[in-house]
Amino acid sequence: MTPFTYFISDLHLSADRDDINQCLFEFLLEQAPQADALYVLGDLFEVWIGDDDQNSFTLSIAKAFNDLRQSGVPIYFIHGNRDFLIRERFAKQAGFEILPEQVAIDLYGEPTLIMHGDELCTKDIEYQAFRKKARSWWWPRIVLSLPLSTRRKIASKGRATSKQKQSKLSSEIMDVTSDEVTSYMQKFAVKRLVHGHTHRPAIHELVINSQSAQRIVLGDWYEQGSVLKVSKDKIDLTSMRF
Ligand code: MN
Repeated sequence: MTPFTYFISDLHLSADRDDINQCLFEFLLEQAPQADALYVLGDLFEVWIGDDDQNSFTLSIAKAFNDLRQSGVPIYFIHGNRDFLIRERFAKQAGFEILPEQVAIDLYGEPTLIMHGDELCTKDIEYQAFRKKARSWWWPRIVLSLPLSTRRKIASKGRATSKQKQSKLSSEIMDVTSDEVTSYMQKFAVKRLVHGHTHRPAIHELVINSQSAQRIVLGDWYEQGSVLKVSKDKIDLTSMRF
């Protein structure tokens, strides 16, 4: 079998979406063990209020990933805009190695930049201001020092506001800025970028510095499971029905 690597993102897991959870369990049990590695590029959870929010749901997810890790498949995690508060405690439970927010990896000889992708949506000024705060050293510290019940309230209020806001924003503002894509790809000297976040699964052929380049966007898991499979010669963006 040709060696390959899996990428997933934007699963938006929650205790009340058992269809998504079951699809993930099946993927981790039946498909993922054959991979060289699994990369989770953010928004694994719909919301994350802290690693101390231990419950049967989060523990079942951690266990499913950790079983895969124990079987010998390394799992790498990059934070999304919903689960940026995941820390070492959960990472350890799930067998994740947490990566920096942008990182270039060698994928069968092709340098590939991976990220969640929210950093590319620079037309949403208000969100970028929040992102800066959320990724600072001080803001998470303050938030994580609040009681769990308070964090739960803040999170549900935040989600309601964000849903309201998203319905008003144009789809152009919600998508990536192409200058930003170019600038990241040049900064990391890559011709391939893989990200999630926008929920617009696609393989975009680009030209950067008169060289052909590729931007691969992972799909979300609201309606089906979305998985990217990359081997030396093949890129497969596939979906699994619930
Ligand atoms: Mn996202």
